Amino acid sequence: LFRFWGPLSSLSKVYSQLLSAMVSAERIFEILDTEPEVKDRAGAKPLPQIAGKVTFTNASFRYGPDSPDVLHGIDFTVKPGQRIALVGPTGAGKSTIVNLLMRFYDPTGGQIEIDGHDLKHVTLSSLRSQMGIVLQDSFIFSGTIEENLLYGNKHATKEQVMDVIRSVRIDRFLDKMPDGLDTQVEERGSKLSVGQRQLLAFGRVLLADPRILILDEATSSVDTETEQHIQEALQHLLKGRTAFIIAHRLSTIRDADVIMVIQNGRISESGSHEELLQTGGLYANLYYNQYAMQQSIEKRATGA
Ligand code: ADP
Repeated sequence: LFRFWGPLSSLSKVYSQLLSAMVSAERIFEILDTEPEVKDRAGAKPLPQIAGKVTFTNASFRYGPDSPDVLHGIDFTVKPGQRIALVGPTGAGKSTIVNLLMRFYDPTGGQIEIDGHDLKHVTLSSLRSQMGIVLQDSFIFSGTIEENLLYGNKHATKEQVMDVIRSVRIDRFLDKMPDGLDTQVEERGSKLSVGQRQLLAFGRVLLADPRILILDEATSSVDTETEQHIQEALQHLLKGRTAFIIAHRLSTIRDADVIMVIQNGRISESGSHEELLQTGGLYANLYYNQYAMQQSIEKRATGA
């Protein structure tokens, strides 16, 4: 499988092992049994139903009072429904941008708004319940497959569950399981393959139907057929949502509305694939190098 920028450091350790799907803030901290760094401020208001416009205004951030800034002057606006690929070397600040958007931390300078609401002044639960997260290694809870899906939305009807199962192609592997939706899976069980876990996580998010999606694109290799299912399911999942993707695959990056190249805590370039190729900067360089490499790999594989 072809990767654009090698393995990246995963999202913040706070939730990396735990969260792979849309799970509400309460649920995260219930699982972790830890005090969140950020809490609701006095007078915080619920974030109303959002369309998904995201604005960072001169946002900077450091993880501790004596630590250096890891983000500097991050400035961008994305429109509802846009797909943003965050790319750049490990340690550049991609996960940190996403951490701020989910408000695991508040920026040390500047501000972040969703639909014009400053994140500092909204309640955490109203914010996070409108965001979906899919991380690389999809987390499975002990229970049935249906219960795992319902973590996305415990009020979902059977019909909604069945719809989701079809649209993210969970049906393909569910049909082979003796107990179907009632099949028991374990947190660390091997009953499900990496690809199946990923599809299950997609299904969970689809049931939750958030306006903003955060995706740390999986780098683990799955077989070609599963990969194809994942790609199809992903297209379905992304449709109509603002999506921030920490992207590893060239196809995902190329299809993004906006590619943001992050380097040393700054946006060094941003634009569509075509725009960045025309600019002839770092992205263009990497792209042409990788492209040449990929072509030679493919040639070798096909014996051409
Ligand atoms: P990326 O996602 O692009 O690999 P990160 O956002 O994870 O980059 O990291 C940006 C910088 O912040 C790095 O220098 C990293 O070491 C630092 N960093 C990330 N998470 C933490 C943390 N929880 N505490 C302190 N420093 C961190």
